[in-house]
Amino acid sequence: AVRVRFAPSPTGFLHLGGLRTALYNYIFAKKHQGSFILRLEDTDQTRLVPGAAENIEDMLEWAGIPPDESPRRGGPAGPYQQSQRLELYAQATEALLKTGAAYPCFCSPQRLELLKKEALRNRQTPRYDNRCRNLSQKQVAQKLAKDPKPAIRFRLEEAAPAFQDLVYGWNRHEVASVEGDPVILKSDGFPTYHLACVVDDHHMGISHVLRGSEWLVSTSKHLLLYQALGWQPPQFAHLPLLLNRDGSKLSKRQGDIFLKHFATVGFLPDALLDIITNCGSGFAEKQMGRTLPELITQFNLMRVTCHSALLDLEKLPEFNRLHLQRLVSSETQRHQLVRTLQALVEEAFGSQLQDRDILDPAYMERVLLLRQGHICRLQDLVSPAYSYLWTRPAVDRAQLSAISENVDVIAKRMLGLLERSSTSLTQEVLSGELKKLSEGLEGTKHSNIMKLLRLALSGQTQGPPVAEMMVSLGPKEVRERIQKVLS
Ligand code: GLU
Repeated sequence: AVRVRFAPSPTGFLHLGGLRTALYNYIFAKKHQGSFILRLEDTDQTRLVPGAAENIEDMLEWAGIPPDESPRRGGPAGPYQQSQRLELYAQATEALLKTGAAYPCFCSPQRLELLKKEALRNRQTPRYDNRCRNLSQKQVAQKLAKDPKPAIRFRLEEAAPAFQDLVYGWNRHEVASVEGDPVILKSDGFPTYHLACVVDDHHMGISHVLRGSEWLVSTSKHLLLYQALGWQPPQFAHLPLLLNRDGSKLSKRQGDIFLKHFATVGFLPDALLDIITNCGSGFAEKQMGRTLPELITQFNLMRVTCHSALLDLEKLPEFNRLHLQRLVSSETQRHQLVRTLQALVEEAFGSQLQDRDILDPAYMERVLLLRQGHICRLQDLVSPAYSYLWTRPAVDRAQLSAISENVDVIAKRMLGLLERSSTSLTQEVLSGELKKLSEGLEGTKHSNIMKLLRLALSGQTQGPPVAEMMVSLGPKEVRERIQKVLS
């Protein structure tokens, strides 16, 4: 069975890079009727950020890709926080010590710091010199008497096994000569990333490891650990880097890339999932507007390439527009949007609302149906350009007179039009009727009449077609606003 995991460290809130990794794991799991697991790698207790663990799980749920097993949900392979699994790491370390694949290291922090400084001074990569690797049993016993809780290091074999990454192909990294033997268990009993990751992937029955390509080199080390523990390794698929459109690092220039931010300013989860997969690979064709079920059926891990994915966040509003339009066209989703819009209007205009009727769901729904395709986010509807929908505009008579000297005539004709026609004017019929308003009015062009009506109705000089504005406001409200301009 396919079992995959997303294994973030709760050292920060979930951002777009993390979402990408989680998403590819999720769609791969769902495509193969497998399980998607959230594991929190919280072994570096000094770097924990309060609220990060909750945020990560909240945001996965918000994005519509909830884990099947997680700290919050539990599951058969729990606990799902590494800090609660120390016993398992101790057991594995014990096994490695027994076979000699691991050894205690008594080097003082000062010595290690010195090694590091010296390497950096010589412009070399810091490397542990494996000093404690070949201590005799007697030496170990002596040192243990003085330092009963040493760190444990893993003896890296010279010949790292080659492996076939499902994205990057054949790989082999000479880890031993580069870094020296890594610490796997610190003196405080906490494991380091490499050991914890291998032990958990094994005990959690992980079949495929899908993670960022920054971990590709570590995989050789992990494979050596699997070998030393006598365990079957999972398959690996490393995902290429996710970068800004200009190739810079995602977090650097883009401003806020945290998911919470996108949720707060009104982007839809589907739009984010769509733009992330759209700039990456894994699909036969590039296509905008895919939904999560479509992503799942169309995804093919074999199509993931090692080219960096360049994310152009300037296109996000356009992705959001498409997904918003899709939601508006579904009745149940539309009702949900109406509720969100009500809350937004209440929050933005509250006390200024022209009356409470404005929050009427039927009115909100009409506005949504008319404006879908034009707006990118629901939030756009509470921007100043659309305030006329919720509050009456203050219109200055002089402004109107500057457009045409026939303000009163036009207003009266408009009121007459409303009087004559039934209450259910369609936008189409209405725009035909509006054309006739200029008949016999020397010197006032149709376009100026529209300008004038738009200003009277909305206080704006730009916006939706006047006929559409009238349909959304409804005949009663249009009448009241027109009446107000009469001198
Ligand atoms: N804790 C690592 C991270 O934060 C996980 C790497 C992995 O998936 O193995 O990215």
